[in-house]
Amino acid sequence: MKIWSFARHRAFRRCRREYFFRYCMQHQQDCGNPSLSERVASLKRLKSDENWLLSIFRNEIIDLVKFGQKDISLDRLGDMEYRVNSAFSRDFSRFAATLRNCDPSGDCTVALHYAGVESLQTLHASHLGALRTLFAKFAESPFCHSLLSLEYTSMRDFRSPDSFIWENMELLAAPDLIFSSPDGCVKIVSFNAYSPECGGEWDFRNGIYALYAWQKMKTPPERVNTFSVFFRADSELALLPLPYRMPPGESLEKIAGTAKAMQDFENSTVEACIPKPSLCQACISCAFRTLCW
Ligand code: SF4
Repeated sequence: MKIWSFARHRAFRRCRREYFFRYCMQHQQDCGNPSLSERVASLKRLKSDENWLLSIFRNEIIDLVKFGQKDISLDRLGDMEYRVNSAFSRDFSRFAATLRNCDPSGDCTVALHYAGVESLQTLHASHLGALRTLFAKFAESPFCHSLLSLEYTSMRDFRSPDSFIWENMELLAAPDLIFSSPDGCVKIVSFNAYSPECGGEWDFRNGIYALYAWQKMKTPPERVNTFSVFFRADSELALLPLPYRMPPGESLEKIAGTAKAMQDFENSTVEACIPKPSLCQACISCAFRTLCW
């Protein structure tokens, strides 16, 4: 059965070469280059720096909601800041050990991997600075209070994606939080490491989450509200929940169209799939750039 996800769709739009490395290569045993396959498998493990920082934050916010905090006091903020910093230090030490030991199976981020051991200090300072900016924005924004004051009868957090079947395809969905309201409505919240101006097709992604609620929770689309929260540190709109979403019919049509394009691409030959492209903005933060430039 074919798997479709928004992450695959975005990679396909961003760069065919990246899409090939990430999603097709392991199925093409005849690509005839075992050392390339090995390098791709190792680079695929690298984390995006922005997503890593966001995940530290995300886990804390989810815990706040899960443990039924109804308000966020200064003490609570202090505890949270401490835990965010601890999680950052713990992860960073792990990444640094991977770099120092040249361990291809260890955890690391794209920026650290490419900057190398000699830049660890600089990257530690800049990433910690970004995390602190994020925390300051979080502490002064009304977002957390509005999230904590939501009325709900049950809540689910998605540490890993769930899926639903549509037209012989498995569609993956991974919103961050889903709240079921006492009035029978559903509120879906997703956190983004980017700003809304980044051309992220957020309405499409929210449309997929609404389909998920329809298929898996039997909640009709008109009773689903979706909220995107943008965490980009330099974005004026960071932490503002913005509700918008694509209608179900349009989302399904778009999924079918992109699934067909991906299928056609995967059926073509390796050489046709990955002609060397020109350097683009996406290359700067791409895990595979050593294979291209
Ligand atoms: S480095 Fe650039 S061209 Fe190469 S896979 Fe990444 S985004 Fe594509």
